[in-house]
Amino acid sequence: MFDVIVIGAGIAGATCASKVSKFASTLLIEAKEEGNIPMTTNVFPEHNCPFLPEEINWQDKSLFPSSHIKTNFLGYKEEGIINSEEFGAPLGNISHTEKLIEALLQIIENQDGTIKYGEKVSHVSRKSDSIQIDTNQGNTYSGKVLVIATGSHSFQLQKSLGFEVPESYNAILTHFYGDEDLLNENIPYDYIYHINPNISNKGPFFINKSKERIYTGYLGNKGETPEQMNQKLERILNNYQRIQPFFKGLKRDSKTIVAKVSKNVIKRLVKDRALVLGEAGGLCTDFFYEGMLCGVSSADIASKTIKPLLENNSNFTSYDLENYELELKRILLNNYFKNGTASEYLFYNTKGSSLKTLWDTYARLVNTNERLRREIWEAYRMQDLENYQLSRTRWAGERLFAMLPTLTKLSLGTKFFRALFK
Ligand SMILES: Cc1cc2nc3c(=O)[nH]c(=O)nc-3n(C[C@H](O)[C@H](O)[C@H](O)COP(=O)(O)OP(=O)(O)OC[C@H]3O[C@@H](n4cnc5c(N)ncnc54)[C@H](O)[C@@H]3O)c2cc1C
Repeated sequence: MFDVIVIGAGIAGATCASKVSKFASTLLIEAKEEGNIPMTTNVFPEHNCPFLPEEINWQDKSLFPSSHIKTNFLGYKEEGIINSEEFGAPLGNISHTEKLIEALLQIIENQDGTIKYGEKVSHVSRKSDSIQIDTNQGNTYSGKVLVIATGSHSFQLQKSLGFEVPESYNAILTHFYGDEDLLNENIPYDYIYHINPNISNKGPFFINKSKERIYTGYLGNKGETPEQMNQKLERILNNYQRIQPFFKGLKRDSKTIVAKVSKNVIKRLVKDRALVLGEAGGLCTDFFYEGMLCGVSSADIASKTIKPLLENNSNFTSYDLENYELELKRILLNNYFKNGTASEYLFYNTKGSSLKTLWDTYARLVNTNERLRREIWEAYRMQDLENYQLSRTRWAGERLFAMLPTLTKLSLGTKFFRALFK
């Protein structure tokens, strides 16, 4: 019997297994084949760093090929640029997440953890003294405690243990490649976030730049199918004038990837002998969609919860595991996590031309207000997320409202008022 079984080798599961395998016999089980983890290029802010295992070198360019220096909140006429050089330190790194996950898996192996690839967990059951999983390879494994880190892929498993499932949306993305000079000339930013109601009412169009490649796509509307998203992405990339200069001369990958993003944290993240990490629990911040932060922080908190319980021969009841929820609330959910909630409500409940005006005004506010730029920079870098003050978000909302044209103010007044209390 293993001490700990982790299902899912995404950022959440791989981080958790790399931490618990230091002190516990650990099985990490992953449905995909080894080395078949999709290529992703993610924004990885400085505040994620303390949750990584100490063996991961934050300066390692094979894992984090570039620093995150500039973000562009791209409006229609305006560009809201945060240039971290203004404040003396980068916003964080850009990660090649598949390489980061490989490095985490190597740590697990070095610590004699067991990893099973290409094995999908099909069934989970609680016994009186353990928890048992069955896989599509016909194998059965038992553990004292189960960590579910399956992202948005295996909701039926968590349901079978009595967990809720979060709301889930499709995202589509594709890669472009080019040499560094051309990329830097086309896109002098590391990340572009753009809202356009003609693309989606539920999320941004984004461009993440890394070494010699960019990764671009959008988060779709509820119910939008992968086929519809593929066709829309083609239309955007071929015809949307606002973004054409970014792609000039770059080579497009023929493949597109459709992935899931879950939102709305489920009410309970622990049950007897089981806890849920990362996106499986809807842990992805509103508006900025910081799934990496949620993955690494929930993994770190889970490992710190499990260690003393193992040492004390716990039965891992939901009561014993409650510390995971309490710490997650204290460190992440009660303050920093709510940073994007008002923006999510405001921007993604506003439609058509009002949304365009709102977004352009936000870009102008970023551009013209040094205090807001500094506050965003600080939010990317702060190491004590539990002390994030939501009054910062409210202050930004008030400034944004004050800057809107009178007609938009009248039409959006009630929404702003509601957003302030989110
Ligand atoms: C297009 C896009 C761009 C994004 N950009 C960013 C960004 O820049 N910064 C950021 O912070 N976040 C970003 N996010 C969010 C972030 O990528 C995710 O929230 C995060 O990767 C979720 O990690 P996870 O480990 O919880 O789940 P996943 O990465 O989904 O991992 C779950 C793993 O579990 C495995 N699995 C599932 N079911 C089973 C089973 N039954 N048996 C065995 N294995 C199983 C899956 O194969 C998978 O490997 C982005 C998301 C998308 C879609």
